Formats: sequence, C-alpha cells, structure tokens
Amino acid sequence: MYQEGKAQFEIGVAFFRSATQVVRDLGVLAAAIYRQTQGKLRVLDGMAGCGVRSLRYALESDANWVWTNEGNPELEPLLRQNLQGNSQTVPGQLTFENVQRLLHRCAANRDYFDLVDLDCFGDSMPYLSLGLGATRIGGLLYLTSTDGRSLTGHLPLNSLRSYGVVARSHPAAQEQALRILLGALQQQAASMGLGMEPVLSLFTGQTYRVMVRLVHKTQLQTHNYGFLGYCHRCGEYQTVDWLKLGRVNCEKCDRPATITGPMWLGPLHDRFYLAAMQTLAQAWQWSKRVDLLTTLQAEATLPPYFYRLGEIGKRGKLHGLPSREALISALIAQGFSATTPHVDSQAVKTTACLGDCVAIARRLQP
Ligand SMILES: [Zn+2]
Repeated sequence: MYQEGKAQFEIGVAFFRSATQVVRDLGVLAAAIYRQTQGKLRVLDGMAGCGVRSLRYALESDANWVWTNEGNPELEPLLRQNLQGNSQTVPGQLTFENVQRLLHRCAANRDYFDLVDLDCFGDSMPYLSLGLGATRIGGLLYLTSTDGRSLTGHLPLNSLRSYGVVARSHPAAQEQALRILLGALQQQAASMGLGMEPVLSLFTGQTYRVMVRLVHKTQLQTHNYGFLGYCHRCGEYQTVDWLKLGRVNCEKCDRPATITGPMWLGPLHDRFYLAAMQTLAQAWQWSKRVDLLTTLQAEATLPPYFYRLGEIGKRGKLHGLPSREALISALIAQGFSATTPHVDSQAVKTTACLGDCVAIARRLQP
C-alpha cells in the first residue's frame, strides 16, 4: 500500500510517479480553494491511472462528486479496489472508456465540471478543446503535457503540426513550453467565444502542467498572444507583436532575432489564487509547497523569459559570478523587478535586459 497525502492506494501495473507529487499537491490545494469559495466541487479525472488524484480530490479537497475514468480496462480491478475497496469511498462514478469520446459526450450533454484533470501523455493538443468543452464557465482545467521536445524547439516540425507554432530552442525554452500550451488554450477558448485565465503553470523537470480558469470574456489580444524574439548573438530577448513580424531585429545589436510563437505572453499564474492556496498550505503545514508558491507568485507577471547566471557570466566574460541573491537584490535596488524563475533555480527573471544584468554582475563580481 502506498500513501500520498490522505490517500492510500496500490499501484499494480498502473503508471505512477511519486516524483510528480508536487503537481498533485498543487491540484489538491487549488481544488480545495475552489470548494471553499464556490461551495461545491464536481471533478472529472479523465485519465485516472491508479486513482490517486480522484482519492485526493475527494479526501483532501472535499469534492462532492468525482467522475473517475480510465481508458485502460485492465486497470478496472485495481481502481475498484483503490476507490471502493476500503473505508475511503469516493462519491461519484467509475468508468473505463476512451477519454476523448467521454469528453465529447460531456460537452454534447452540457455536463460541465468544476475541475477537469487530464494527465495526458505526449502531445496534449487533442485534449485542449475537449477539456475546455467539459469545463463549466468559472471552472478549472488542469492539464499535463510531456511533449517537451516539441515545445522546447527540438522538433520544430512536430510543434508546427501539433500546435501550429514555430518553436525554437534557447535558454528560456522550458518556460516557452508552458506558454505555448497556455497560448493554445487561449486560442481554443477564443474560438469558442470564451477566454481563459492561467491559474498556475509548472515545469517539474520532465513534465509540464498548466491550470486555467475558463471565463466568459475573450482574453486573446495581440499584446498577450504573440511571439518571443531571441538574439543568439548577444542573448537579449524581446516580445514581438504580430504586426511587427516582418522586421524583428535585436534591440541591442540590430541583427535578425530568432522567433518563437505564437504563445501566451501574459501572466503565468493567478497571484491572488496562489496566495489563497499558500494560506491553506501553511495551515496544512506543507512547508515545501509554501516555498514553491512564494516563487510562483513572485514570477507571475514578469517578462516571458529569464537569463541563466552562466549566460550572464559568459556574455559578460566575467571572471566570477555574484550569488543569485546578490544579483537580484542589486537589480531591485536599481529599480527593476527581479526574482528566481521556478523553471530554473540558477537564473534571474527580471524586467532588466541582459546587458543591464551583465553590467550589475560585473560590479558585484567577487
Ligand atoms: Zn543582439
């Protein structure tokens, strides 16, 4: 028997990674806040595996009702045992069918959920519009992508075919992966006459997870859904508007920039929602999650890229690098916003350009 949070379960032949507990912990916190503020929580766990997420939403987020679905019928005895076999009975229903068919039917029947959790494997694009279609207005969609090689620019033709995006590789490419997913969700929502607001975005080291809120008002604009430019010569980034695509040169050296997009350029997370989750994490004494939520809140509205410390040292030909904390403090003292991105602990996310970071690091070098 495994235990995670309040859930006890067996894994059997199901796919389960204890390393991604952080993703489930944040999902449980977000769902619990939803339950507290909306007074109800109806969950669809579309790719349930061993059922750990369904159990935790029921036991820890206090879900009223959970529809647990798993596409692999061989997992039926395991899931029945885990969800119904002992004292921790989950209120809801258990099915074993193709999740795409199930989501289609939910949308057709106008059966909308407060939280749709889709732990997809590989290319998540086929599930974006289906997931949004089963989410109620104001509800949450929590989606995995393991499609990192395409989204970080290592398989550009795949990213074009799956997402309609030209993805290029550069130092901040893991954040780009989250933003391509968010952009695709925003575009899908807009095509339905709706909008989405990012609640949280997380790179775990292998997988990408985004949680978005479906809203009435269309959010997609040319300033928040566009392109990222990167200069391979001097390492500077810029965001690029659709209307300026034909003339994108580096703002420092005037050489042509490498362009990725379109993607979401707006906030990565909902700071206020994360603050509520953090208060709950404190009450539950989840200290590591409290720290992570601090990091996420700090980066939520900063520019859609970051600079690695090694990059600052290399570009500036510095003999020694200041500590990350010293550099961030100096940037803030100079009037910039600056913090550590959750994607890379050895980097700074800031409103300063790379040239300013190099100049400050040069003054601080040990
Ligand atoms: Zn340049």
